[in-house]
Amino acid sequence: MKLYILTDLEGISYVVREEQTSPGSKEYEEACLLLTREVNAAIDGALEGGVTEILVNDLHGARGGFNLIPEELHEHARYVTGGPRTCRMAGLDESFDLAFMVGYHAMAGTQGAVLDHTMSTRVIVDAYINDRKVGEIGIDASILGYFNIPVALVTGCRMAVKEAESLLGNIEGVVVKEGFSRNFAMCLPPVKSRRLIREAAKRAVQRAKEFKPFKINPPITVRVKYSHPNYADIQARIPRVEREDSRTIVVRGEDLLDVMRILGWY
Ligand SMILES: [Zn+2]
Repeated sequence: MKLYILTDLEGISYVVREEQTSPGSKEYEEACLLLTREVNAAIDGALEGGVTEILVNDLHGARGGFNLIPEELHEHARYVTGGPRTCRMAGLDESFDLAFMVGYHAMAGTQGAVLDHTMSTRVIVDAYINDRKVGEIGIDASILGYFNIPVALVTGCRMAVKEAESLLGNIEGVVVKEGFSRNFAMCLPPVKSRRLIREAAKRAVQRAKEFKPFKINPPITVRVKYSHPNYADIQARIPRVEREDSRTIVVRGEDLLDVMRILGWY
């Protein structure tokens, strides 16, 4: 059984502040270690559940991921790292059976969520796929769904897991922190988060046949509302991007990957 693991940083246990998510600080280095160890816990659990091949995609960061700590990496996986990227979901194809999202966060504007945003904290206010409001969980699940790969496990704050369950149904969710507000949360100790992730990852693999891919039926319409007209101005110069109003653009198409590629999300 083949597993694709997508990783982000904002939904990792004990990561609650902006400085923990941007390179160049001691806080960021520490967050990267927490991330790497949570990913390792997910890999351990997946292997216990019967997965034989694992590819990890380090996705945090605008220009591509370079967050995992090489010397700490689990030996039973391969890793997609670096950028700028020619494809956000490099290495993904229909040969994978299952996907995990480790360290994910709720969509922009979610009250009580830790570090909520959609692709960019400052740039995007809302995103919709076929009129359904989505964040990164929904966007990435739709790309996985295109390849018929279901999401089996999501880890993050309480609101991220709630968002995943409302979109994807009865998946395995691990709540590693509860937000009081955006940068203020009650957290599990990382050692406990890792144990819960390992146990949930094992269960997720054992339940693999229960999960359904998140499929979006064509025609596809993706609508993005930006925080400032300048961002919409830049996007509207790209062919096939329609301007809806001062701050909103729309991309339409028959093929989800085609639309996601135009937006830079695939
Ligand atoms: Zn991130």
